Amino acid sequence: MSSPALPELAHTPVGHIPVIHSTLVRSFAAHLTRPLSFRLTQLRKLYWAIKDHEKELLEACKRDLGKPYYETYLTEINWCLNDIIFVCKNLESWAREEKAKDIPLMHAVTRPKIRKEPLGAVLVIGAFNFPYQLSLGPLVGAIAAGCTAVLKPSENAPYAAAMMQRIIAERLDSSAYTVVQGAIPETTALLDCKWDKIFYTGSATVGTIISKKAAETLTPVTLELGGRNPAIVTRNADMRLAARRLLWTKHMNAGQICVSQNYILIDKEVLPTFLEQLKVAIKDFYPNGVRESEDYGRIVNEKQWQRIKKMLDSTSGKILIGGTMDAETKYLEPTVVEVTDPNDSLLTEESFGPLIPVVPVSDLDEAIRLANTIHATPLGIYPFGSKAEVSKILDSTRSGGASINDGFYHASISTLEFGGVGDSGSGSYRGKASFDAFTHRRVVTSTPGWVEGLLSIRYPPYKGKMEKV
Ligand code: NAD
Repeated sequence: MSSPALPELAHTPVGHIPVIHSTLVRSFAAHLTRPLSFRLTQLRKLYWAIKDHEKELLEACKRDLGKPYYETYLTEINWCLNDIIFVCKNLESWAREEKAKDIPLMHAVTRPKIRKEPLGAVLVIGAFNFPYQLSLGPLVGAIAAGCTAVLKPSENAPYAAAMMQRIIAERLDSSAYTVVQGAIPETTALLDCKWDKIFYTGSATVGTIISKKAAETLTPVTLELGGRNPAIVTRNADMRLAARRLLWTKHMNAGQICVSQNYILIDKEVLPTFLEQLKVAIKDFYPNGVRESEDYGRIVNEKQWQRIKKMLDSTSGKILIGGTMDAETKYLEPTVVEVTDPNDSLLTEESFGPLIPVVPVSDLDEAIRLANTIHATPLGIYPFGSKAEVSKILDSTRSGGASINDGFYHASISTLEFGGVGDSGSGSYRGKASFDAFTHRRVVTSTPGWVEGLLSIRYPPYKGKMEKV
């Protein structure tokens, strides 16, 4: 594929941000985005904007993350396109007024209904690792719900961010949807404005800043935060299958995935077989070597590369497979490290890179105890074992989601709701949940005049009425 020309990222002037905010608030107040026909038109325009700029969007991710085109197509472009199709197909029924269910007979006369109202002018803040999916996914939800929206993509994937700005500015109604580019100063200026909802994807540290700021104005937030997810492999698991699947979930995007396993708790009896199978899988995936392969990405920037290197340098664990690094190309080989100290930072911190710490355990109880101690509320948990073992794991742990016999399969279904629990996030989105994330369910009753006689029971004087209710 010949390299298409790409726009460069330019930060939005901080002074312009309140103006953008006012425009979006005004457009919402003028009901510009409420009609379903408007929302559907904008969603279709976004669909065609993505489709028409497929080449540039693929190239932007290649430049930002060294992401193979195939990976970007599968997990970003095609994902967003399918998401829009699904939302467009279902929007009319999701947005329809609902008759309230399970209403006591005495209140049925007021015909309670639930209207689906857009929340208002909203702010979407994206992360760098899946720059399109994590930014456009929530934006699709906001458009579908009838909100006006500003998108603040991650500055750490600058080409992808600039491409999103281009397609949104070119194709969508600019008085309803716009992109603000920048880092901390620009995001801080955005947070200084009063939004009707903030949808944030990124690290828990920044999530705390967002939450605090939102709390000052009682702004609702959805937080999609970091992972630190365990995989648990018991002695009854299929080792070939576990190795291939858990390698893939750490190879993709060079391990920069919130739902990847952060470490593997594995029965020590089967650890040698698992390691052998990992080596076989690496050879299978990259017959000519990982570094030479076009199918393996790079770490997003020098800062992140240094951070992961530091984790590897300071671990008390022992490198068993891999370990090759190259600062210039930000290459990091998938690296398996045996870790025995549960306080090792490779386990307690999110590596967000292609590190595969394996922790040998004596039995399933120890694995469950460690999983619950290291991080009680991860984004995902990945049990490999017998049916009874898997049930025991799910019954004894908490997590945003879980994939049995796989790493993060549950998170790869674009129509299935997705979110964290505890400190891995709050709220969910995708499919109908994206529409719900930006919708207020407004309850409405209508009291007919002719029930006034019956309603007299509620009016004073109360004397003698207690016995009648
Ligand atoms: P990040 O928190 O550094 O940045 C996310 C966004 O926050 C960016 O748009 C950035 O500009 C903004 N930001 C950064 N510092 C800020 C500050 N001080 N004040 C205000 N805004 C600020 O995250 P990242 O490096 O882009 O992504 C990696 C993290 O995101 C990992 O922890 C990963 O697990 C998490 N993540 C979670 C999900 C999910 O769906 N739960 C998905 C992808 C990534």
